[in-house]
Amino acid sequence: MTREHFDAVVVGAGSGGGILAPRLSDDPSRRVLLLEAGPDFPDDLELLPGFYSAGHQLQHMFVGDYDWGYASEPLPPENGSRSIRLPRGRLVGGSSMTNAQMFIRPAPFDFDRWAAAGAGAGTWAWDAVRPCYEAVEREIQCKRYPSGGWQPVQHAFADALRGFGYRDHDDVNAPDAWHGIIGSTKFNRINEVRQGTLVTTIRRARSRANLTIRAETLVDRVLLEGGRAVGVRAIGPDGVARDIRADQVVLCAGAYATPALLMRSGIGPAAHLREHGIAVVADLPVGERLLDHAALYWYFVNHELADMRGPGAAVMARHQGNDWLGVATTMDEAAGLCTFGFVTTTDNAGGPLRLRSTDPAAAPIINHRYDTEGHRSAETLVHELLATEQFRGSTFLDAGRPYAEIVAERIGTSYHPAGTAAIGTVVDDDLRVLGIDGLLVADASVFPAQISNNTNLTCLMIGEVAARKLGATPRAA
Ligand SMILES: Cc1cc2nc3c(=O)[nH]c(=O)nc-3n(C[C@H](O)[C@H](O)[C@H](O)COP(=O)(O)OP(=O)(O)OC[C@H]3O[C@@H](n4cnc5c(N)ncnc54)[C@H](O)[C@@H]3O)c2cc1C
Repeated sequence: MTREHFDAVVVGAGSGGGILAPRLSDDPSRRVLLLEAGPDFPDDLELLPGFYSAGHQLQHMFVGDYDWGYASEPLPPENGSRSIRLPRGRLVGGSSMTNAQMFIRPAPFDFDRWAAAGAGAGTWAWDAVRPCYEAVEREIQCKRYPSGGWQPVQHAFADALRGFGYRDHDDVNAPDAWHGIIGSTKFNRINEVRQGTLVTTIRRARSRANLTIRAETLVDRVLLEGGRAVGVRAIGPDGVARDIRADQVVLCAGAYATPALLMRSGIGPAAHLREHGIAVVADLPVGERLLDHAALYWYFVNHELADMRGPGAAVMARHQGNDWLGVATTMDEAAGLCTFGFVTTTDNAGGPLRLRSTDPAAAPIINHRYDTEGHRSAETLVHELLATEQFRGSTFLDAGRPYAEIVAERIGTSYHPAGTAAIGTVVDDDLRVLGIDGLLVADASVFPAQISNNTNLTCLMIGEVAARKLGATPRAA
């Protein structure tokens, strides 16, 4: 086997890794290797149509060829015992290049949940992380759509909510934009081109001599010697496994793949590792919990309100009791089909995530569990909305059906898996794997508790925190 050496190897070029590797390479003396299982698109001309957001529909997200194709194990009976599709980006840029681009900060009070779950205030309090959000927001631009560009169904949604006492907020990312607000959603999208890490942070750094980006390279495991990470074993496009040595290894493979990588390396629940014949290096609760947000959609027909122009989630509402955030959009203009979509803001702890086999190409066993109670207030609101003047003439397609039946039929992921290698149980406040030198995690896996909102901006923030922990200098505001 050929052996190379880098100062830092970053595994996974998605949201966390797509911030971290470029930031580490700001120091020209640090040799950084960014490894990614999916393909790379280094040239503007190669950008495929799917990278253009074009999307007004919630289901209009770019999956397919550049997706891992994960599916859950059957959900619990109260969630309908269904297996659900779990999209994850597989390309340079990761899920930041396949997501719905809602560019949303968490609530400051989310970090109280993090503290309660064991995260230290020195790094993870709102005041401590806010400069890292601001640094990311300087690197990745976003926009919002003025109300003139909203769909009629979105105007009706906002008007009806105003009638229920919701207030307009002109910045949904402001610290006080909670508890009963309506606002124009922020999207990391410019000229309708998504601003994932492929076309922003990675693009700006890729010509640096000290940053090597290697795509179509699947990392099998971390190499560990005497309680220290010394590199990774990776399978390149030629199918050959090579050992690459590094002083620091940072896993940014996402909330499904990072725990699998840790377990294949001997870091995880000891009994489970032994079932697969893996020598236990560190007995840690990797994959024990799997967070997400539960999404639930309600359907109605209204030909006057259905209009596909304008983005699908142009306006968002947050519930007064902070149970959910909601949007309204057109699904099929010709059919007059519209939906109210709600995403809970609570924890929804599922799990466990386990290895199916030691084959690095095998998908892990993914067990999700969704909170069925968080959507109760949304169900009530759907009935109230459809009774308003703004929604007159609507035909409610779910009329008369029991709540439990609708939940069992369609509750599912809002694409926000997190928490499988959490701060406080698997990594410390500095994102270092407990008991192992030279190994960090910097992606959605480290969330010690769920945030009240979409997760991408927080994964980007974690990449920035990791860069600073590894000595990258904060940039001037
Ligand atoms: C369809 C969809 C819609 C979403 N919509 C939104 C939204 O509108 N707003 C929002 O805030 N969030 C949204 N999200 C969630 C958000 O995009 C994710 O939380 C975030 O991108 C996760 O970042 P990450 O760094 O943890 O993982 P990722 O960005 O998924 O990066 C992981 C990377 O690691 C690579 N990798 C995995 N295993 C290996 C391996 N063994 N070897 C090498 N490379 C590997 C992957 O290919 C991938 O590129 C959405 C997600 C999806 C999938």
